[in-house]
Amino acid sequence: MSTSTPSRSAFERTLKGACDRLGYSDAMFRLLASAAREIKVDIPILRDNGELAVFTGYRVQHQNARGPYKGGLRYHSSVDIDEVRGLASLMTLKTALVDIPLGGGKGGIECNPRELSPRELERLTRKFVQRIHREIGPETDIMAPDVGTNAQTMGWIYSEYGAIHALQPAVVTGKPLSLGGSPGRDKATGYGVALTIQAYAAHTKTKLEHKTAAIQGFGNVGHHAALCLKEMGVKIVAVSDSRGTIHCKDGIDIDRVMAKKKEFGRFDEMPGYELKEPAAVLELPCDYLIPAALGDAIHAGNAHKVKAAVIVEGANGPCTLDADRILGERKIPIIPDILANAGGVIVSYFEWVQNLQRHGWDLEKVDAELARTLKKAAHAVFEHAEDQKISLREACYDISVMRVKEALDATGF
Ligand code: GLU
Repeated sequence: MSTSTPSRSAFERTLKGACDRLGYSDAMFRLLASAAREIKVDIPILRDNGELAVFTGYRVQHQNARGPYKGGLRYHSSVDIDEVRGLASLMTLKTALVDIPLGGGKGGIECNPRELSPRELERLTRKFVQRIHREIGPETDIMAPDVGTNAQTMGWIYSEYGAIHALQPAVVTGKPLSLGGSPGRDKATGYGVALTIQAYAAHTKTKLEHKTAAIQGFGNVGHHAALCLKEMGVKIVAVSDSRGTIHCKDGIDIDRVMAKKKEFGRFDEMPGYELKEPAAVLELPCDYLIPAALGDAIHAGNAHKVKAAVIVEGANGPCTLDADRILGERKIPIIPDILANAGGVIVSYFEWVQNLQRHGWDLEKVDAELARTLKKAAHAVFEHAEDQKISLREACYDISVMRVKEALDATGF
């Protein structure tokens, strides 16, 4: 794996293709390609040992024609302005594709959260909110968890924003349930990956029973995708984390692997299972390969070794432009990130709605609405791709870009 940066140029080239197919002007392309606002801040904190440390934080607000900026906050050592820009643009397309009234944004702090104590992470998060609080809010820009952040991080954002303004749960989503979080938000992205696969199977008239999946990344997305797919009858033959791949062609007991990972903090030898290199997961024969770790996981160097029938992008930007081309030539379809992992932001939207209405939904309603929203979007993509004889990614971009342009036109210039 090279870096975790979903390349900005990949986004721009795919966007340009959509604008050309749709006959949009160069000015419209440039408007859709660029961010409305980019915020960069220094975040000084005292480490637990009393020493001063200074981190850099970003919030990129890409587009809000369809609604307030919306997107996660990432804590990772790879975070830089380019990565956050790329991820912010993907959020604009994602919210448009699943047709929820939100725009796109993304934030990040360049740090290694594993090297910071919980108290240091709390200070870092609160100081970041102090720096950007004027630019965020329930009607302006709503953050959520991403790589390296979780419900606890959102709880700190909620609390710090509330200390400066008034306590408003809708300022952030993916919060703990006790602070107005939504049932089903935690599993939403992984469940969405499974629902997208279910929709694709229905579209291609295949049965999910006895199909196999290999999952790269065993964090929130990979873990929940594995559990949900298993319930749908799919056999999980491999899962990986940054240190190893667990493989068993007869199927893996996900709870057993999770228990082991919790105990040792990583995958380890387990009787009956093979322990392989982390990258081995990408090269195993399976029906569905789900890269659910970081960006650029499948690239020119390994795309020709993929043996899966279909790739389902659980992470944001896991296939580079080269990988897209090579896999296209090899006739391996890719279900793109902005569709496959949209379950998270869809349930974020439900959380925001519940917060604004001061009325909670039960899990049954959240799950049913998520399935309805995602499947509608998925079928529109599959049909458009077939009609136009274009890839699933191109179909996603066409639909999203048309919706964003329609809103821009409607608001006037
Ligand atoms: N970070 C997630 C994503 O990339 C969720 C964003 C959100 O819920 O706002 O889609």
